[in-house]
Amino acid sequence: MPAFTSPVPPGTGWPDDPAGPATPVARAAEDVARLAGGARDLAELDARVSVCRACPRLVEWRERVAIEKRRAFAAEPYWGRPVPGWGEEEPRVLIVGLAPAAHGGNRTGRIFTGDRSGDWLFASLHRTGLAKEPYSVRAGDGQRLLGARVLARVRCAPPDNKPTIAERDTCGPWFARELALVIRHVRVIVALGSFAWQNTLPALADLGFAVPRPRPSFAHAAEVELPGPYGTLLLLGSYHPSQQNTFTGKVTEQMLDAVFARARHHAGLA
Ligand code: SF4
Repeated sequence: MPAFTSPVPPGTGWPDDPAGPATPVARAAEDVARLAGGARDLAELDARVSVCRACPRLVEWRERVAIEKRRAFAAEPYWGRPVPGWGEEEPRVLIVGLAPAAHGGNRTGRIFTGDRSGDWLFASLHRTGLAKEPYSVRAGDGQRLLGARVLARVRCAPPDNKPTIAERDTCGPWFARELALVIRHVRVIVALGSFAWQNTLPALADLGFAVPRPRPSFAHAAEVELPGPYGTLLLLGSYHPSQQNTFTGKVTEQMLDAVFARARHHAGLA
């Protein structure tokens, strides 16, 4: 595979770039575990996530996409790096997705930003009072989450939106550490899609939440109460606002709005 390097070196002026030239780089699974576990706060975690190179296939893919680009974005620089979580540092609502999109988060450097899924998601978050603006176009666009934080289970755009099991597991400590750093504030987690649902439950069990056995199944608008060390958390399921789901009507604006309105109300943000 060609050895592409990151199109945007850390600390070179990209808006909201959390990293700098001295940020330590994970190059293997054990580095991810060590650097994630040792991150003292979200700022340090985000910086370390954003320069990670632990999965060779995903590093090659994200950087290839960032160089080849899609025609519509040919004149724009692509981020081409892992995409950290984004939003409030003390969120009451946490929104978990699968992974950044090749020409969305991988282009803009912000999760669910610059693609159709993000258009749907942020329009709904705005309608339900969880986002300041009805769009999410690029880093530094004035968007702000209100009482919420969005993060992906896997931080690099995967080919066909499908990380391997090994890649999912390698990336797990970034997700686990981010959860650990914010969980005491969180009242509701919205899992966008079954991958997010299935991978959030074990991470919550590791943090001391009582996860039922057998594990509850994913469905749109499914709800599970999970007692834990910081009170009882509500896990809500939602179909992912992917183009396939929105085009086919599997998920509608009303369905998304109902989930996020429920989340906001339950979290005491209404
Ligand atoms: S998927 Fe996660 S662990 Fe793998 S390179 Fe990206 S950020 Fe690192």
